[in-house]
Amino acid sequence: MSDYSNLLVYLDGEFVAWNDARIHVFTPAVKYGAAVFEGIRGYWNADTEKMYLFRLEEHMRRLELSQRIMRFGRIVPAETMMEATVDLIRRNAFRAAVHIRPTVYVAGAGESNAQTPIGTFITAIARDTPKKVERGVRAQISSWQRISDNVMPARAKANGNYNNSRYAGLQAAKDGYDAAIFLNSRGKLSEGQAMCLFLVRNGVAVTPSATSDILESITRDTVIRLLREKGIEVQERDVDRSEFFDASEAFFCGTGAEITPIIDVDGDAIGAGTPGELTRALQATYFDLAFGRSNPDHAWLTAV
Ligand code: PMP
Repeated sequence: MSDYSNLLVYLDGEFVAWNDARIHVFTPAVKYGAAVFEGIRGYWNADTEKMYLFRLEEHMRRLELSQRIMRFGRIVPAETMMEATVDLIRRNAFRAAVHIRPTVYVAGAGESNAQTPIGTFITAIARDTPKKVERGVRAQISSWQRISDNVMPARAKANGNYNNSRYAGLQAAKDGYDAAIFLNSRGKLSEGQAMCLFLVRNGVAVTPSATSDILESITRDTVIRLLREKGIEVQERDVDRSEFFDASEAFFCGTGAEITPIIDVDGDAIGAGTPGELTRALQATYFDLAFGRSNPDHAWLTAV
């Protein structure tokens, strides 16, 4: 088990020791999963001796959206969360890549409809790029269906939504796969457990649309823009599972997953069964940007 006991946690306006960051067992967040969160990465650049937080504001704006969808009685503004995050990174004096997890939750002792009081906390821990980003993953199209917008909106990054992901993830692992891919209630491709997905067909990048029961991923937006800058056409639309049989490349994308090649779906290789050429080029561009190597003054980077 990892030991985080030397780290500080932001909790309701204070910075407290990791082992003192507690909330009560009777909070609606614990009883009913009435909480929303974000996952944000910070990339440590050893040359400039700076941490670059990637698209911090966009993440905190999405956290506002998640609170609105969940009908929280008070919306914690992005500005408050951004300031607290920068402060937390400074106080913990990280000199390695980090993963930041801000949460806004229904506190108090209310029942499942409770909308107030609202609590906040932010953790940050050291976390490197996972090995799967290099070697790629073998994915299973799950027999579990993605939650739909009129069941539990995937557009909100709500803690409870991750039970859906968990069912698919556990099944994929049991069946010997590295990752799961969801179909939505209309039978179209949706997303992975905590990542969106792209296919490359005849040189065109294709990704399920924002109305495919996905989280509106910030990395997906980054990838769309980077691909277009490379002159690659991108289509956001309904995508069928059979399109994998015609894909030369496929990849997942997300803050945690970064750009993870999909090398196989349900036992059938994608392309040569190795990470694709465009996927590799995109990874290089993405990391150069995120580490502040290509442009340390880029508007997407918050230097700490
Ligand atoms: N879908 C889901 C369900 C997720 O949890 C995540 C991770 N936040 C993503 C997609 C990727 O989103 P982002 O690129 O904003 O991290």
